[in-house]
Amino acid sequence: MTEPNTVPSDFIADQISADRAAGKYGGRVQTRFPPEPNGYLHIGHAKAIIADFGIAEQFDGICNLRFDDTNPDAEDVEYVESIIDDIAWLGYHPKQVFYASQYFEQLYRWAEELIERGLAYVDDQDAETISTQRGGFGKAGIESPYRDRSPQENLALFRAMRAGQFADGAKVLRAKIDMQSDNMSLRDPVMYRIRRTNHHRTGDQWVIYPNYDWAHGQSDAIEGVTHSMCTLEFVSHRPLYNWFLDQLDLPGDHPQQMEFARLELTHTVTSKRKLRQLVVDGLVDGWDDPRMPTIQGLRRRGYPAAAIRAFCEHIGLTKTNARHRLEELESFVRAELNRTAQRRMAVLKPLKLVLDDWPTTDGRTLGEAIQAGDDYQSQVEWFELTNNPENPGDGSRMVPFSGELWIERDDFALDPPPRFFRLSPGREVRLRGAYLVTATSVDLDDSGQPSVVHASFDPASRGGNAPDGRKVKSTMHWLSAPTAVDIEARLYDRLFSAEAPGAASGDPMDDLNRDSVEVLTAKGEPSLGRPALDASLESPAGSVQVQPGQVVQFERLGYFAADPRQDGLFHRTVGLRDEWAALAKKGSN
Ligand code: ATP
Ligand code: MG
Repeated sequence: MTEPNTVPSDFIADQISADRAAGKYGGRVQTRFPPEPNGYLHIGHAKAIIADFGIAEQFDGICNLRFDDTNPDAEDVEYVESIIDDIAWLGYHPKQVFYASQYFEQLYRWAEELIERGLAYVDDQDAETISTQRGGFGKAGIESPYRDRSPQENLALFRAMRAGQFADGAKVLRAKIDMQSDNMSLRDPVMYRIRRTNHHRTGDQWVIYPNYDWAHGQSDAIEGVTHSMCTLEFVSHRPLYNWFLDQLDLPGDHPQQMEFARLELTHTVTSKRKLRQLVVDGLVDGWDDPRMPTIQGLRRRGYPAAAIRAFCEHIGLTKTNARHRLEELESFVRAELNRTAQRRMAVLKPLKLVLDDWPTTDGRTLGEAIQAGDDYQSQVEWFELTNNPENPGDGSRMVPFSGELWIERDDFALDPPPRFFRLSPGREVRLRGAYLVTATSVDLDDSGQPSVVHASFDPASRGGNAPDGRKVKSTMHWLSAPTAVDIEARLYDRLFSAEAPGAASGDPMDDLNRDSVEVLTAKGEPSLGRPALDASLESPAGSVQVQPGQVVQFERLGYFAADPRQDGLFHRTVGLRDEWAALAKKGSN
């Protein structure tokens, strides 16, 4: 039988296949994605989401969303909502949404059970003392002087903890396992701490909160999770995960924890704490700043969900941590956008080009009208341009052309260097899809820079080719100046200049690139403006207005995403050059 899904085989899928073949869990597969709602999801979480939901899909199982809300200090409904939204945007739909806080009462009862059986005790020591006594690998642990309290005493103290009779931090509940274990997680881990903070769901109902290790496996078991995937740093917690489950009389199966490598990317940090610092310190413009590796940031930057999924499926699940190159992710983004993004024209650094022999509406030429110094209007012609050569279904649009144009400043050289084949005095080039033009003269501004380039056009080359078949070396993009709209284009550089931010100093912020955005006042074809162009100038083909959030290719310049909120603002998603292919060719990846 062939699997209908695209998730490639990996050690986790192989293990689950083996479990099913052996009849484990009755062949059932249930996973969960368990974020803590203390920040926005980032690209690393996308990998976990794709793994959790993908595996469930692959085995006809189910995947739930469970908020691991056991630490009220940093948690908030704002994060809950954004997480739900980001998962849906990535294309996944949890069967059910749970909160670990729903299980606080059950966890509490189980804790009392462990106390009664002599498997947990209340410790009066402070966090620092407990941590010191834990020892280290090859270094003996020291047993707490409170370790041998009787079950009755522990039970009374634990109930008093719950009842709010002690100050924050005054006591903890610890599992009584083995202070000499080689596994530090088993050296009497803390199960509960006292903390008076309003919880976003349970309010002030609780002053004691379960720790991650105590909450996680039990929550998995309550929900019926079979395969509980997490990242490699939890390998050493697995014996504890199992120890807790083994002590309890579970309502169902004993779930199994499986670990895979975290996703790390060059020039990127994937830690909510660090990302929050960027936001709080005002180093970026919010969680959805297009330079942020948050899902919200990537969305605003124009990354398609399909590209993120394809990248994560491509790198797969492995057992060794590796830092993937950002260029590789970008190549998936580019490949997806190449298929899906419509083409448009924009000029990032505009330079005026005037076709002196172009007709005005009153029968003169532009050159004559400009010379006469009175009012004139350039004739307008409409050209039909293909929206996406990769997808004929996207059709075409009509773009206005006239004798007054914007071209890219970099596409003109007064004194062209060798191998510069774009416009320069006396040189003929193609204005894409329109005409062949030849530069004739240049007006300079006070600083000696070109301000207006004058040119002539060949009327016989309408559509962009001369009937005599003569060749030109360059094809350039252009805009008709009278109908061009003002846009703002933001070009982004890496947010962190080092490949492994913080590797040298220990603090990623030391590697922050303080010059990672370039803001350009640019021009675009009418379809990039909002509201739509004046009806009298509207394209005969109807509206092709770019919508908020839509990603288009600015020809020759890259892919740009229309900001979801601010009209006329475009973020460069990625450039056109496949740097990943170039790196692969150099063999340096
Ligand atoms: P952070 O360090 O950014 O706060 P976290 O692991 O504490 O991340 P959680 O909200 O607890 O964040 O994570 C939810 C799930 O996402 C966990 O299963 C976690 O292992 C997984 N996850 C988090 N970061 C990554 C990453 N970089 N790569 C793969 N999975 C990740
Ligand atoms: Mg966490």
